[in-house]
Amino acid sequence: KPIVAIVGRPNVGKSTLFNKLAGKKVSIVKDTPGVTRDRIYAEAEWLNRTFSIVDTGGIEPKTHDTLLQYMRQQAQLAIETADFVIFVVDGKCGLTDADAEVGTMLRRSGKPVVVAVNKLDNMQDISPIYEFYELGLGDPLAISAEQGKGIGDLLDEVIRFFPDETE
Ligand code: GDP
Repeated sequence: KPIVAIVGRPNVGKSTLFNKLAGKKVSIVKDTPGVTRDRIYAEAEWLNRTFSIVDTGGIEPKTHDTLLQYMRQQAQLAIETADFVIFVVDGKCGLTDADAEVGTMLRRSGKPVVVAVNKLDNMQDISPIYEFYELGLGDPLAISAEQGKGIGDLLDEVIRFFPDETE
C-alpha cells in the first residue's frame, strides 16, 4: 500500500487533517529499529484504493529540540518512509522560515509532495495560498481540515499519483 505522510509545523492542523482522512483502522505503531519515535498510522480507503497515512506529528520533540530540529526530523522520516507527502502549512500564519527549510528538504528528496494550505475556512478568499508558491513544490491547495473543505481536491492529487490499483 502506498504510504502517505503528513508533515508540518505544530498546530497547523495535521492531526485534524489526519482524522478527516483516516478510515476506521487507526493504530499506533511502536518504535521499529532505526526509528526513534512512535508513529500514528491509519489505513484509509479512497475511491477503492487503500493507503496508509502516517501523522508525523506523532513524533514528540525532545525538550531541547528547536522547532527547526523537530521539523527536520519529521521531514526526514517522511522522506525515508513515504511514497507521497502532504505538507501542511498554516494559511492564517503565512509562510515561515521553518516551512521554507522543510520545503527545501522535500524538494531535494524528489518525493512527490502536495502543499495543503490549511485553515482557509472561507474558501471564497484563497489568496493566502499564493505566497506558498515560493516553496517550489507546485500548486498549493486551499483546505479547511476542520470544515472538511478542499479535502476532495487533496485526495485527487494523491490518487492522481497512483493511477493503478496498488495491491
Ligand atoms: P497539529 O499540531 O498540526 O496536529 O494541529 P491540530 O490538528 O492539533 O490543530 C491545531 C489547532 O488548529 C486546533 O485548535 C484546531 O482546531 C485548529 N485547526 C485545525 N484545522 C483547522 C481549520 O481548518 N480551520 C481552523 N480555523 N482551525 C483549524
